[in-house]
Amino acid sequence: MTKTYAVIGDPIDHSLSPAIHNAAFGFLGLDCTYIAYRIPKGELAQGIEALKKIQIAGFNVTIPHKIEMMKLLNEADENCKTIGATNTVVNENGVLKGYNTDMDGFLDPIKKRNIECKDCNVLLVGAGGAARAIVVGFSKMKVHKITIANRTKQKADELIKFANKLGLESDYTDLDNAGNIVGKYKFVVNATSVGLKGSASPISTRAITKDSIVYDIVYMPVETELIEQSKKQGATIIYGWEMLLGQAMRSFEIWTKRPAPYEAMKLTLLGRF
Ligand code: NAP
Repeated sequence: MTKTYAVIGDPIDHSLSPAIHNAAFGFLGLDCTYIAYRIPKGELAQGIEALKKIQIAGFNVTIPHKIEMMKLLNEADENCKTIGATNTVVNENGVLKGYNTDMDGFLDPIKKRNIECKDCNVLLVGAGGAARAIVVGFSKMKVHKITIANRTKQKADELIKFANKLGLESDYTDLDNAGNIVGKYKFVVNATSVGLKGSASPISTRAITKDSIVYDIVYMPVETELIEQSKKQGATIIYGWEMLLGQAMRSFEIWTKRPAPYEAMKLTLLGRF
């Protein structure tokens, strides 16, 4: 019987996940299909019941349900529990097990480039859900300190406390000052939604140098303003699409227990931009 997978969220019509996963299923000749299913905020429980009825084999979870979905899981893996959010669920005869592949997806391009993170300093711009997974990722890589720059200081303070609990040194700066001090950090990561659809960079790029590693998790457009400007200053660039691909590959592997076909998924993803 054909296995059906899905991505749930709202909005969901522009999701690239169906294209990436269907390409992978097709490439490996698996009898599986992947659909986008809109579940509005407040209707998650009913939406999940509907998915169980059609015997969904597994699904990805995106904005606004990543945290709420935790309550509907029967089991959760370690990363998922630590981050407090799930983006990947397996359905085994009605038993839902949650995973979080955002963290692995984030770390994947760093590991592919053999970049050493141990004892380095990170400037993380943003303090939302994705930033939380990134903090857990950097704590696993044993970085020295994470400075959080965020529009809303209270959100940054919560994330600083979370980082401290993981044993990480962490402090705050505002978005204006972040542009002045950025040169002191090995990593600069944008985990805000600023940059989406061609808006400005979330911080000034003036002080970015050729020694900076600039990682923008925004993937639409591929070349955000932050990336474009940082390239001009000679920085090493890591693209948001690389994280998107990394998390999709990990979800695919959890569901199918097979290595994900990197090239087929990458070609399909890049063809969509
Ligand atoms: P979220 O929980 O809603 O957090 C949004 C963040 O953006 C907060 O830090 C928020 O600051 C900040 N922000 C929003 N508008 C802003 C503005 N006008 N000026 C300054 N800061 C602003 O969202 P999320 O789930 O963390 O996702 C964040 C971004 O990462 C999205 O663009 C998403 O598409 C992308 N993402 C990419 C991947 C990938 O695989 N590449 C994975 C996950 C997420 P406040 O706290 O002040 O509101």
